[in-house]
Amino acid sequence: MSDISMAKENTSPDGKDGAAPKRGRLDRLRFRKKELPTGLWLKCEHCEATIYRKEVVEKSYTCPSCDFHFTMPGRDRVRHTLDAGSWEELFPDLTAMDRLHFVDSGPYGDKIERTVQRTGQNEALIAGRGEIHGRPVILGVMDFKFLGGSMGEVVGEKIALACDVARLEKRPLVLFTASGGARMHEGMLSLMQMAKTCSALSSLQEAGGFAICVLTHPTTGGVTASFAMVCDLTLAEPGALIGFAGPRVIASTIKQELPPGFQRSEFLLEKGQIDAIVSRDDMRETLANLIDYGTYAWDEIGTRRVTIPGMEVEPVASEEAAAAGVEAADRDADETTG
Ligand SMILES: [Zn+2]
Repeated sequence: MSDISMAKENTSPDGKDGAAPKRGRLDRLRFRKKELPTGLWLKCEHCEATIYRKEVVEKSYTCPSCDFHFTMPGRDRVRHTLDAGSWEELFPDLTAMDRLHFVDSGPYGDKIERTVQRTGQNEALIAGRGEIHGRPVILGVMDFKFLGGSMGEVVGEKIALACDVARLEKRPLVLFTASGGARMHEGMLSLMQMAKTCSALSSLQEAGGFAICVLTHPTTGGVTASFAMVCDLTLAEPGALIGFAGPRVIASTIKQELPPGFQRSEFLLEKGQIDAIVSRDDMRETLANLIDYGTYAWDEIGTRRVTIPGMEVEPVASEEAAAAGVEAADRDADETTG
């Protein structure tokens, strides 16, 4: 099974597929020269426009010229998703153990230490309690800047714990993924998280819980192949790269040219692999709406018990609703029998 090599390939720091080829000193210099000064400007990977970084951040990490949704840092995602002041982090102290004493370019333990210092957080998943338009939720957010958002023992454990808390406290679970897949440094232990997270979600669903997963750019490898695809609802942000293996690996394996738009959200929606594409601007309202549907926040005549500012609905008269229901049922019967 080559998931480990795929995870390695997908977690390259630039978020592109394929392990970076070894560069000579000259190549490195040329590469640096082409790069824009970091901190001020960046190049949109979709429309290639040169854009002012501050403007991108102010627009919730979307491109001002083509609306491409960039990978959002975990903490910003939490702030963007939840009501101000409602966040309460859970299990922030869990850190990875280098049980295999894994060494690649350096010891895995050292890499973890450096990443913790650089990012100011202990792992690639942030979990906690919070509210979305007043609806209590358990939120789990993957952070791509922590070793490519890769799933090792701690990420798996925190997702399983988040499922448990959601089940015990009867709160809906909302997950955001941004990941290169299983963390190769933890070998088989990271692959085991695929089964563990799915099993925890299954327990939540059996207990009548409700889970939504939002796939963001990029979501690949063992994360796509496990918990990200088995929630009650699977949403995605526009233009997000979502897949298992990288497109180059697939193209060279099946020896065929891949169709345009392959592995992007829009392609996946067309093929029925995801339920909806939701833009970042509409995310909070959509999640609040779906939580209401998933947790029966509607009374018998279709009136919302709780309202979202700006999204008040007109109550539907029960007779009218019943008539519409009968009509639809008749039509369905005609179509299936005719
Ligand atoms: Zn753009």
